[in-house]
Amino acid sequence: MSDPVESFEESVLRTFPETFEALEAQGILIPTVTLDRLKALLSTGQQAIVDQIMNLRPQDYGVNTPYAGDLEPVPADLVKVSGQQYTEHGVRKTLGEKYVPAHIFEAYVRMNEAFMAGHPKRKLLVVSCYRSPAYQVAVFINWLIEAYHGDIAKTIRHASPPNYSQHTIASKAAIDFKNVDGSPSNEHPEDFKDTVEYAWLRRHGGEFSFYESWPEDNEFGMRAEPWHWQYRS
Ligand SMILES: [Zn+2]
Repeated sequence: MSDPVESFEESVLRTFPETFEALEAQGILIPTVTLDRLKALLSTGQQAIVDQIMNLRPQDYGVNTPYAGDLEPVPADLVKVSGQQYTEHGVRKTLGEKYVPAHIFEAYVRMNEAFMAGHPKRKLLVVSCYRSPAYQVAVFINWLIEAYHGDIAKTIRHASPPNYSQHTIASKAAIDFKNVDGSPSNEHPEDFKDTVEYAWLRRHGGEFSFYESWPEDNEFGMRAEPWHWQYRS
């Protein structure tokens, strides 16, 4: 076992935002990108950081995130969800394409119908569901740089390496929800716990096999994420 990584090469870390922006613009950096495809488009230094993130263990940083599962190939039965709209501060916005494994999409549709039966003007939107291991590494890097100034211990309470992420194992992928008012917002994501969507999920999510993974003060030491519900059949 090697010693835990203390920090990544700062000069290389700084190059990721520009690379990722270009790969997103080209439609390459999407939730189904494979590790081979992504790494082939990175510099040697960037590839080394990707490899380091693949091997991070949350326990080395004081977080007991459960092992999510061995990595699998990108599944073939993903449902592409597009055109989801919400209104934030009076501005109409549309979410980008999301990918949901077919069996989870079916459960989600049934759950949303049940929710909307009592809340006809509202909806549970999918902000994120399946993410390939490579995409999860990109998500990790984005949080590492944009929110945590390269601090691995802080980032890992929020975004997990692929083997520990509930977004990378298709059979039991989690959905991150958003409501039609844009909550959780980037500025105050914790406010999602005050929404009717959260109250409804707490009461009924389990009927559709969706469970809150990271409640307030959870035993794992993960940041509270009231919008993150894992599908467990
Ligand atoms: Zn999540």
